[in-house]
Amino acid sequence: MDFKLTEEQEMIKKMVRDFAEKEIAPLARENDEKSSYPPEIAKKLGELGIMGITIPTEYGGAGTDHVSYAIAIEELSRVDSSFGTVVSVNNSLVCDPILKYGTDEQKKKLLTPIAKHGIGAFSLTEPGSGSDAGSLKCTAVLEGDEYVINGTKNFVSNGLMADLVLLFAVTDKSKGAKGISAFLIPDGTPGFEKGKKEDKLGIRACDTIEISFEDCRIPKEFLLGEEEQGLRIALGTLDGGRIGIAAQAVGIAQGALDESLRYSQEREQFGQPIFNFQAIQWKLANIATETEAARLLVHRAAFTKEQGKRFSTEAAMAKLFASDVAMKATREAIQVFGGYGYVKEYPVERFYRDAKVTEIYEGTSEVQRIVISRALLKD
Ligand SMILES: Cc1cc2nc3c(=O)[nH]c(=O)nc-3n(C[C@H](O)[C@H](O)[C@H](O)COP(=O)(O)OP(=O)(O)OC[C@H]3O[C@@H](n4cnc5c(N)ncnc54)[C@H](O)[C@@H]3O)c2cc1C
Repeated sequence: MDFKLTEEQEMIKKMVRDFAEKEIAPLARENDEKSSYPPEIAKKLGELGIMGITIPTEYGGAGTDHVSYAIAIEELSRVDSSFGTVVSVNNSLVCDPILKYGTDEQKKKLLTPIAKHGIGAFSLTEPGSGSDAGSLKCTAVLEGDEYVINGTKNFVSNGLMADLVLLFAVTDKSKGAKGISAFLIPDGTPGFEKGKKEDKLGIRACDTIEISFEDCRIPKEFLLGEEEQGLRIALGTLDGGRIGIAAQAVGIAQGALDESLRYSQEREQFGQPIFNFQAIQWKLANIATETEAARLLVHRAAFTKEQGKRFSTEAAMAKLFASDVAMKATREAIQVFGGYGYVKEYPVERFYRDAKVTEIYEGTSEVQRIVISRALLKD
Protein backbone atom coordinates (compact mmCIF):
# COMPACT_ATOMS: atom_id res chain seq x y z
CA MET A 1 0.00 0.00 0.00
CA ASP A 2 1.38 3.38 -1.03
CA PHE A 3 -0.26 6.60 0.17
CA LYS A 4 1.97 8.83 -1.96
CA LEU A 5 0.49 10.56 -4.98
CA THR A 6 2.11 9.71 -8.32
CA GLU A 7 4.16 12.31 -10.14
CA GLU A 8 1.26 12.94 -12.53
CA GLN A 9 -1.22 13.34 -9.65
CA GLU A 10 1.12 15.80 -7.91
CA MET A 11 1.39 17.76 -11.15
CA ILE A 12 -2.39 17.92 -11.59
CA LYS A 13 -2.81 19.02 -7.96
CA LYS A 14 -0.37 21.86 -8.46
CA MET A 15 -1.82 22.90 -11.81
CA VAL A 16 -5.40 23.04 -10.49
CA ARG A 17 -4.36 24.77 -7.24
CA ASP A 18 -2.50 27.46 -9.18
CA PHE A 19 -5.44 27.97 -11.52
CA ALA A 20 -7.97 28.08 -8.66
CA GLU A 21 -5.92 30.59 -6.67
CA LYS A 22 -5.18 32.85 -9.63
CA GLU A 23 -8.36 32.70 -11.69
CA ILE A 24 -11.15 31.61 -9.35
CA ALA A 25 -10.37 32.91 -5.84
CA PRO A 26 -10.34 36.64 -6.75
CA LEU A 27 -13.88 36.37 -8.15
CA ALA A 28 -15.35 33.94 -5.64
CA ARG A 29 -17.12 36.47 -3.43
CA GLU A 30 -18.56 38.38 -6.39
CA ASN A 31 -19.69 35.16 -8.08
CA ASP A 32 -21.40 34.07 -4.87
CA GLU A 33 -23.18 37.40 -4.55
CA LYS A 34 -24.18 37.58 -8.22
CA SER A 35 -25.14 33.91 -8.24
CA SER A 36 -23.27 33.32 -11.51
CA TYR A 37 -19.76 33.01 -12.92
CA PRO A 38 -18.03 34.23 -16.09
CA PRO A 39 -18.30 31.48 -18.74
CA GLU A 40 -14.61 32.03 -19.58
CA ILE A 41 -13.70 30.16 -16.39
CA ALA A 42 -15.41 27.00 -17.63
CA LYS A 43 -13.72 27.49 -21.00
CA LYS A 44 -10.32 27.72 -19.33
CA LEU A 45 -11.07 24.63 -17.23
CA GLY A 46 -11.79 22.89 -20.53
CA GLU A 47 -8.45 24.06 -21.95
CA LEU A 48 -6.70 22.62 -18.87
CA GLY A 49 -8.36 19.26 -19.56
CA ILE A 50 -10.43 19.36 -16.37
CA MET A 51 -13.91 19.14 -17.93
CA GLY A 52 -13.29 15.59 -19.12
CA ILE A 53 -10.35 14.67 -16.97
CA THR A 54 -10.76 10.86 -16.96
CA ILE A 55 -12.21 10.62 -20.47
CA PRO A 56 -9.82 9.08 -23.04
CA THR A 57 -8.05 11.62 -25.26
CA GLU A 58 -9.70 10.15 -28.39
CA TYR A 59 -12.99 11.53 -27.05
CA GLY A 60 -11.64 14.93 -26.11
CA GLY A 61 -10.67 14.18 -22.50
CA ALA A 62 -7.38 14.30 -20.60
CA GLY A 63 -7.20 10.52 -20.09
CA THR A 64 -6.06 10.63 -16.46
CA ASP A 65 -7.13 8.43 -13.52
CA HIS A 66 -9.98 8.81 -11.02
CA VAL A 67 -7.72 9.78 -8.09
CA SER A 68 -6.51 12.72 -10.21
CA TYR A 69 -10.15 13.60 -10.79
CA ALA A 70 -10.80 13.65 -7.03
CA ILE A 71 -7.69 15.79 -6.51
CA ALA A 72 -8.84 18.31 -9.14
CA ILE A 73 -12.30 18.60 -7.56
CA GLU A 74 -10.74 19.02 -4.10
CA GLU A 75 -8.42 21.79 -5.28
CA LEU A 76 -11.22 23.73 -6.99
CA SER A 77 -13.52 23.34 -3.97
CA ARG A 78 -10.81 24.46 -1.57
CA VAL A 79 -11.22 27.90 -3.13
CA ASP A 80 -14.76 27.91 -4.57
CA SER A 81 -16.83 24.74 -4.37
CA SER A 82 -19.27 25.95 -7.05
CA PHE A 83 -16.59 24.84 -9.51
CA GLY A 84 -16.42 21.49 -7.73
CA THR A 85 -20.06 21.11 -8.75
CA VAL A 86 -19.60 22.38 -12.31
CA VAL A 87 -16.71 20.00 -12.94
CA SER A 88 -17.98 16.95 -11.06
CA VAL A 89 -21.40 17.06 -12.75
CA ASN A 90 -19.77 17.33 -16.17
CA ASN A 91 -17.27 14.54 -15.55
CA SER A 92 -19.09 12.04 -13.36
CA LEU A 93 -22.72 12.57 -14.25
CA VAL A 94 -22.52 13.26 -17.98
CA CYS A 95 -19.19 12.27 -19.59
CA ASP A 96 -18.78 9.01 -17.60
CA PRO A 97 -22.18 7.48 -18.47
CA ILE A 98 -21.84 8.40 -22.16
CA LEU A 99 -18.41 6.77 -22.20
CA LYS A 100 -19.81 3.68 -20.48
CA TYR A 101 -23.15 3.25 -22.23
CA GLY A 102 -22.92 5.40 -25.38
CA THR A 103 -22.66 4.24 -28.98
CA ASP A 104 -19.60 5.17 -31.00
CA GLU A 105 -21.63 7.84 -32.75
CA GLN A 106 -22.80 9.35 -29.41
CA LYS A 107 -19.24 9.39 -28.13
CA LYS A 108 -17.99 11.18 -31.23
CA LYS A 109 -20.85 13.64 -31.63
CA LEU A 110 -22.00 14.33 -28.07
CA LEU A 111 -19.28 13.23 -25.62
CA THR A 112 -16.25 14.74 -27.38
CA PRO A 113 -17.37 18.41 -27.32
CA ILE A 114 -18.58 18.11 -23.71
CA ALA A 115 -15.35 16.47 -22.51
CA LYS A 116 -13.27 19.10 -24.32
CA HIS A 117 -14.88 22.35 -23.37
CA GLY A 118 -18.65 21.96 -22.99
CA ILE A 119 -20.96 21.80 -20.03
CA GLY A 120 -23.30 18.92 -19.33
CA ALA A 121 -26.17 18.52 -16.86
CA PHE A 122 -27.83 15.47 -15.29
CA SER A 123 -31.56 15.55 -14.82
CA LEU A 124 -33.11 12.84 -12.66
CA THR A 125 -34.93 14.77 -9.91
CA GLU A 126 -38.51 16.01 -10.30
CA PRO A 127 -40.73 18.06 -7.99
CA GLY A 128 -42.42 14.85 -6.77
CA SER A 129 -39.43 12.51 -7.00
CA GLY A 130 -36.18 13.05 -5.07
CA SER A 131 -34.64 10.25 -3.00
CA ASP A 132 -37.28 7.95 -4.50
CA ALA A 133 -35.89 8.47 -8.02
CA GLY A 134 -37.78 5.48 -9.41
CA SER A 135 -41.08 7.33 -9.01
CA LEU A 136 -40.32 9.97 -11.66
CA LYS A 137 -43.12 10.96 -14.05
CA CYS A 138 -41.49 12.63 -17.08
CA THR A 139 -42.42 10.55 -20.17
CA ALA A 140 -40.73 9.62 -23.45
CA VAL A 141 -42.95 8.00 -26.07
CA LEU A 142 -41.50 6.45 -29.24
CA GLU A 143 -43.27 7.74 -32.36
CA GLY A 144 -41.67 6.45 -35.54
CA ASP A 145 -37.98 7.34 -35.38
CA GLU A 146 -38.36 9.90 -32.59
CA TYR A 147 -39.03 10.00 -28.88
CA VAL A 148 -41.53 12.64 -27.74
CA ILE A 149 -40.69 13.94 -24.27
CA ASN A 150 -43.06 15.64 -21.83
CA GLY A 151 -42.57 16.62 -18.20
CA THR A 152 -40.89 18.91 -15.68
CA LYS A 153 -37.59 18.40 -13.90
CA ASN A 154 -36.05 20.47 -11.13
CA PHE A 155 -32.75 20.97 -9.31
CA VAL A 156 -30.68 20.68 -12.49
CA SER A 157 -27.11 21.75 -11.68
CA ASN A 158 -25.31 23.39 -14.63
CA GLY A 159 -28.72 23.50 -16.35
CA LEU A 160 -28.54 27.11 -17.48
CA MET A 161 -25.09 26.76 -19.05
CA ALA A 162 -25.62 23.21 -20.31
CA ASP A 163 -24.96 22.26 -23.92
CA LEU A 164 -26.26 18.76 -23.25
CA VAL A 165 -28.62 17.23 -20.67
CA LEU A 166 -28.68 13.58 -19.63
CA LEU A 167 -32.38 13.11 -18.94
CA PHE A 168 -34.29 10.27 -17.31
CA ALA A 169 -37.87 9.63 -18.42
CA VAL A 170 -40.42 6.81 -18.33
CA THR A 171 -40.81 4.84 -21.56
CA ASP A 172 -43.15 2.22 -20.07
CA LYS A 173 -45.41 3.47 -17.28
CA SER A 174 -46.73 -0.02 -16.53
CA LYS A 175 -43.25 -1.10 -15.38
CA GLY A 176 -42.77 1.68 -12.81
CA ALA A 177 -39.09 2.22 -11.92
CA LYS A 178 -38.12 -0.55 -14.36
CA GLY A 179 -39.70 1.41 -17.23
CA ILE A 180 -37.26 4.35 -17.02
CA SER A 181 -34.84 5.13 -19.89
CA ALA A 182 -31.97 7.61 -20.34
CA PHE A 183 -31.75 10.22 -23.11
CA LEU A 184 -29.27 12.78 -24.37
CA ILE A 185 -30.87 16.14 -25.10
CA PRO A 186 -28.81 18.84 -26.80
CA ASP A 187 -29.47 22.44 -25.80
CA GLY A 188 -31.74 24.23 -28.26
CA THR A 189 -33.89 21.19 -29.07
CA PRO A 190 -37.40 22.57 -29.75
CA GLY A 191 -39.78 21.85 -26.86
CA PHE A 192 -36.95 21.86 -24.29
CA GLU A 193 -37.16 24.97 -22.08
CA LYS A 194 -34.86 26.20 -19.34
CA GLY A 195 -36.88 27.73 -16.50
CA LYS A 196 -36.64 29.16 -12.99
CA LYS A 197 -33.18 29.48 -11.43
CA GLU A 198 -33.04 28.55 -7.73
CA ASP A 199 -31.90 31.17 -5.21
CA LYS A 200 -29.69 28.93 -3.09
CA LEU A 201 -28.02 28.93 0.33
CA GLY A 202 -24.64 27.85 -1.07
CA ILE A 203 -22.75 26.88 -4.23
CA ARG A 204 -24.46 29.99 -5.56
CA ALA A 205 -22.12 30.65 -8.50
CA CYS A 206 -23.10 27.32 -10.06
CA ASP A 207 -26.62 27.50 -11.45
CA THR A 208 -29.42 25.12 -10.48
CA ILE A 209 -32.58 25.39 -12.56
CA GLU A 210 -35.93 23.88 -13.46
CA ILE A 211 -36.32 22.50 -16.99
CA SER A 212 -39.42 21.44 -18.89
CA PHE A 213 -40.31 19.45 -21.98
CA GLU A 214 -43.39 19.96 -24.10
CA ASP A 215 -43.69 17.59 -27.05
CA CYS A 216 -39.92 17.73 -27.34
CA ARG A 217 -38.81 15.43 -30.18
CA ILE A 218 -35.42 13.79 -30.29
CA PRO A 219 -34.09 11.17 -32.73
CA LYS A 220 -34.23 7.66 -31.30
CA GLU A 221 -30.42 7.54 -31.65
CA PHE A 222 -30.29 9.84 -28.59
CA LEU A 223 -31.45 7.04 -26.29
CA LEU A 224 -28.47 6.24 -24.00
CA GLY A 225 -27.97 2.50 -23.45
CA GLU A 226 -31.00 0.25 -23.82
CA GLU A 227 -34.63 1.17 -23.22
CA GLU A 228 -35.61 0.54 -19.57
CA GLN A 229 -31.97 0.54 -18.44
CA GLY A 230 -32.44 4.11 -17.18
CA LEU A 231 -32.62 3.63 -13.41
CA ARG A 232 -29.59 1.35 -13.48
CA ILE A 233 -27.68 3.96 -15.48
CA ALA A 234 -28.80 6.72 -13.08
CA LEU A 235 -27.89 4.87 -9.88
CA GLY A 236 -24.57 3.56 -11.24
CA THR A 237 -23.71 7.05 -12.43
CA LEU A 238 -24.53 8.53 -9.02
CA ASP A 239 -22.10 6.07 -7.40
CA GLY A 240 -19.32 7.72 -9.39
CA GLY A 241 -20.74 11.19 -8.74
CA ARG A 242 -20.51 10.61 -5.00
CA ILE A 243 -16.72 10.38 -5.25
CA GLY A 244 -16.76 13.87 -6.77
CA ILE A 245 -19.06 15.27 -4.09
CA ALA A 246 -16.98 13.66 -1.34
CA ALA A 247 -13.87 15.27 -2.90
CA GLN A 248 -15.75 18.57 -2.99
CA ALA A 249 -16.48 18.22 0.75
CA VAL A 250 -12.79 17.51 1.46
CA GLY A 251 -11.85 20.61 -0.52
CA ILE A 252 -14.26 22.77 1.47
CA ALA A 253 -12.87 21.38 4.76
CA GLN A 254 -9.28 21.95 3.61
CA GLY A 255 -10.14 25.52 2.58
CA ALA A 256 -11.66 26.12 6.02
CA LEU A 257 -8.52 24.72 7.67
CA ASP A 258 -6.11 26.78 5.55
CA GLU A 259 -8.02 30.00 6.16
CA SER A 260 -8.28 29.30 9.92
CA LEU A 261 -4.61 28.47 10.25
CA ARG A 262 -3.60 31.69 8.52
CA TYR A 263 -6.06 33.90 10.41
CA SER A 264 -5.26 32.40 13.82
CA GLN A 265 -1.59 33.35 13.39
CA GLU A 266 -2.44 36.93 12.36
CA ARG A 267 -5.24 37.76 14.80
CA GLU A 268 -4.04 38.88 18.22
CA GLN A 269 -6.01 38.99 21.45
CA PHE A 270 -4.69 39.28 25.00
CA GLY A 271 -1.37 40.38 23.45
CA GLN A 272 -0.70 37.26 21.37
CA PRO A 273 -1.86 35.40 18.25
CA ILE A 274 -5.02 33.43 18.99
CA PHE A 275 -3.20 30.36 17.60
CA ASN A 276 -1.30 30.29 20.93
CA PHE A 277 -4.50 29.35 22.76
CA GLN A 278 -4.86 25.62 23.11
CA ALA A 279 -8.60 25.89 22.45
CA ILE A 280 -7.80 27.14 18.92
CA GLN A 281 -4.97 24.65 18.34
CA TRP A 282 -7.25 21.74 19.21
CA LYS A 283 -9.91 22.90 16.81
CA LEU A 284 -7.34 23.03 14.01
CA ALA A 285 -5.89 19.65 14.99
CA ASN A 286 -9.36 18.11 14.84
CA ILE A 287 -10.17 19.66 11.46
CA ALA A 288 -6.79 18.57 10.03
CA THR A 289 -7.20 14.98 11.25
CA GLU A 290 -10.79 14.57 10.08
CA THR A 291 -10.06 16.15 6.70
CA GLU A 292 -7.16 13.77 6.15
CA ALA A 293 -9.34 10.78 7.11
CA ALA A 294 -12.03 11.95 4.68
CA ARG A 295 -9.43 12.39 1.93
CA LEU A 296 -8.20 8.82 2.41
CA LEU A 297 -11.76 7.51 2.04
CA VAL A 298 -12.19 9.56 -1.14
CA HIS A 299 -8.92 8.33 -2.62
CA ARG A 300 -9.80 4.74 -1.70
CA ALA A 301 -13.16 5.03 -3.49
CA ALA A 302 -11.53 6.66 -6.54
CA PHE A 303 -8.76 4.04 -6.61
CA THR A 304 -11.29 1.21 -6.37
CA LYS A 305 -13.21 2.70 -9.29
CA GLU A 306 -9.98 3.08 -11.25
CA GLN A 307 -9.31 -0.64 -10.80
CA GLY A 308 -12.68 -1.45 -12.36
CA LYS A 309 -13.99 -3.00 -9.14
CA ARG A 310 -17.39 -2.36 -7.49
CA PHE A 311 -17.12 0.86 -5.50
CA SER A 312 -20.70 1.78 -4.41
CA THR A 313 -20.05 1.23 -0.71
CA GLU A 314 -16.67 2.97 -0.79
CA ALA A 315 -18.22 5.97 -2.55
CA ALA A 316 -21.18 6.12 -0.14
CA MET A 317 -18.85 5.94 2.90
CA ALA A 318 -16.60 8.65 1.46
CA LYS A 319 -19.53 10.99 0.78
CA LEU A 320 -21.24 10.34 4.12
CA PHE A 321 -18.07 10.94 6.12
CA ALA A 322 -16.57 13.78 4.07
CA SER A 323 -19.80 15.82 4.02
CA ASP A 324 -20.04 15.54 7.80
CA VAL A 325 -16.40 16.63 8.10
CA ALA A 326 -17.06 19.63 5.81
CA MET A 327 -19.97 20.71 8.02
CA LYS A 328 -17.93 20.42 11.23
CA ALA A 329 -14.79 22.03 9.75
CA THR A 330 -16.63 25.06 8.42
CA ARG A 331 -18.58 25.56 11.67
CA GLU A 332 -15.34 25.45 13.65
CA ALA A 333 -13.61 27.75 11.14
CA ILE A 334 -16.23 30.43 11.79
CA GLN A 335 -15.60 29.98 15.51
CA VAL A 336 -11.85 30.50 14.98
CA PHE A 337 -12.61 33.74 13.12
CA GLY A 338 -15.08 34.89 15.81
CA GLY A 339 -17.26 37.76 14.56
CA TYR A 340 -15.15 38.09 11.42
CA GLY A 341 -16.18 34.57 10.45
CA TYR A 342 -19.79 35.69 10.39
CA VAL A 343 -19.33 38.40 7.77
CA LYS A 344 -18.63 38.18 4.05
CA GLU A 345 -15.21 39.83 4.21
CA TYR A 346 -13.69 36.38 4.80
CA PRO A 347 -14.57 33.24 2.83
CA VAL A 348 -15.38 30.95 5.76
CA GLU A 349 -19.06 31.95 5.96
CA ARG A 350 -19.35 31.01 2.24
CA PHE A 351 -17.64 27.69 2.94
CA TYR A 352 -20.16 27.05 5.74
CA ARG A 353 -23.09 27.69 3.39
CA ASP A 354 -21.48 25.68 0.59
CA ALA A 355 -20.80 22.64 2.78
CA LYS A 356 -24.45 21.85 3.49
CA VAL A 357 -25.35 20.69 -0.01
CA THR A 358 -22.78 17.89 0.16
CA GLU A 359 -25.11 16.22 2.70
CA ILE A 360 -28.05 16.53 0.30
CA TYR A 361 -27.36 16.06 -3.41
CA GLU A 362 -26.42 12.87 -5.21
CA GLY A 363 -28.15 11.02 -2.38
CA THR A 364 -28.73 12.50 1.08
CA SER A 365 -26.69 11.28 4.04
CA GLU A 366 -29.70 9.14 5.01
CA VAL A 367 -29.60 7.50 1.57
CA GLN A 368 -25.83 6.88 1.91
CA ARG A 369 -26.52 5.11 5.22
CA ILE A 370 -29.11 2.93 3.44
CA VAL A 371 -26.53 2.00 0.76
CA ILE A 372 -23.87 1.22 3.41
CA SER A 373 -26.16 -0.77 5.69
CA ARG A 374 -27.39 -2.90 2.75
CA ALA A 375 -23.76 -3.71 1.94
CA LEU A 376 -23.19 -4.75 5.57
CA LEU A 377 -25.96 -7.35 5.22
CA LYS A 378 -24.38 -8.74 2.03
CA ASP A 379 -20.92 -9.14 3.60
C1 LIG B 1 -28.19 22.55 -5.01
C2 LIG B 1 -28.77 21.28 -5.51
C3 LIG B 1 -28.35 20.76 -6.74
C4 LIG B 1 -28.92 19.60 -7.23
N1 LIG B 1 -28.52 19.13 -8.45
C5 LIG B 1 -29.16 18.08 -9.01
C6 LIG B 1 -28.87 17.66 -10.35
O1 LIG B 1 -28.00 18.23 -11.01
N2 LIG B 1 -29.60 16.67 -10.90
C7 LIG B 1 -30.58 16.02 -10.21
O2 LIG B 1 -31.20 15.11 -10.76
N3 LIG B 1 -30.86 16.36 -8.91
C8 LIG B 1 -30.18 17.38 -8.31
N4 LIG B 1 -30.47 17.76 -7.02
C9 LIG B 1 -31.52 17.06 -6.32
C10 LIG B 1 -31.00 16.22 -5.16
O3 LIG B 1 -30.34 15.10 -5.64
C11 LIG B 1 -32.19 15.90 -4.26
O4 LIG B 1 -32.54 17.10 -3.61
C12 LIG B 1 -31.88 14.82 -3.24
O5 LIG B 1 -31.71 13.58 -3.88
C13 LIG B 1 -32.98 14.68 -2.19
O6 LIG B 1 -34.25 14.66 -2.77
P1 LIG B 1 -35.40 15.65 -2.22
O7 LIG B 1 -34.81 17.01 -2.18
O8 LIG B 1 -36.61 15.45 -3.04
O9 LIG B 1 -35.64 15.21 -0.74
P2 LIG B 1 -36.60 13.98 -0.24
O10 LIG B 1 -36.30 12.75 -1.02
O11 LIG B 1 -38.00 14.46 -0.22
O12 LIG B 1 -36.05 13.81 1.23
C14 LIG B 1 -36.42 14.65 2.32
C15 LIG B 1 -35.81 14.06 3.59
O13 LIG B 1 -36.30 12.72 3.80
C16 LIG B 1 -35.22 11.83 3.89
N5 LIG B 1 -35.59 10.53 3.29
C17 LIG B 1 -36.16 10.31 2.08
N6 LIG B 1 -36.31 9.00 1.88
C18 LIG B 1 -35.81 8.38 2.96
C19 LIG B 1 -35.68 7.02 3.36
N7 LIG B 1 -36.08 6.00 2.58
N8 LIG B 1 -35.14 6.73 4.57
C20 LIG B 1 -34.71 7.76 5.37
N9 LIG B 1 -34.81 9.06 5.06
C21 LIG B 1 -35.34 9.36 3.87
C22 LIG B 1 -34.08 12.48 3.12
O14 LIG B 1 -32.82 11.95 3.49
C23 LIG B 1 -34.29 13.94 3.51
O15 LIG B 1 -33.72 14.16 4.76
C24 LIG B 1 -29.89 18.90 -6.48
C25 LIG B 1 -30.28 19.41 -5.24
C26 LIG B 1 -29.74 20.56 -4.75
C27 LIG B 1 -30.20 21.09 -3.43
